[in-house]
Amino acid sequence: MCIFCEIIKGNISSYKIYEDNEFLSFLDISQATNGHVLVIPKKHFANIFEVDDDTLAKISVLTKKIALQLCKNLNVKNCNILNNYGPLAGQTVNHFHIHIIPRYNDSDVIIKFNNQNKTKDEMINIANTIKNNCQ
Ligand code: AMP
Ligand code: ZN
Repeated sequence: MCIFCEIIKGNISSYKIYEDNEFLSFLDISQATNGHVLVIPKKHFANIFEVDDDTLAKISVLTKKIALQLCKNLNVKNCNILNNYGPLAGQTVNHFHIHIIPRYNDSDVIIKFNNQNKTKDEMINIANTIKNNCQ
């Protein structure tokens, strides 16, 4: 059973923000900050890499639209827009979704990246490893 598919079917209730034939947006039950919402395709895809390019393009544009309006309506100027892929990255629901998390101040939610302070050689090695076949 997929909890988000159940929300789409109406078997589990949600606080809907936006709905059309292909997509749904609703409040995240956990509310990392006030107005934390999720945007999902109605078709079930386990994760970002399973989503077809057309759906991914459409949901990106829709997420931008919802995020802009949400920030305006909440009178906030900053937000995080993110996807967690895989358990190590924090994915807990295996139905592709994008988080929109309004930010009110610097400490309201912990999304910070540690700087590992790599040397120049280490940076070159990392770049060489990951750029293979990227273009
Ligand atoms: P992630 O950890 O990136 O997979 O995000 C999954 C999110 O779904 C979490 O932030 C949960 O709080 C949220 N979530 C789980 N169940 C529900 C639900 N029934 N309604 C709304 N949000 C939910
Ligand atoms: Zn699903």
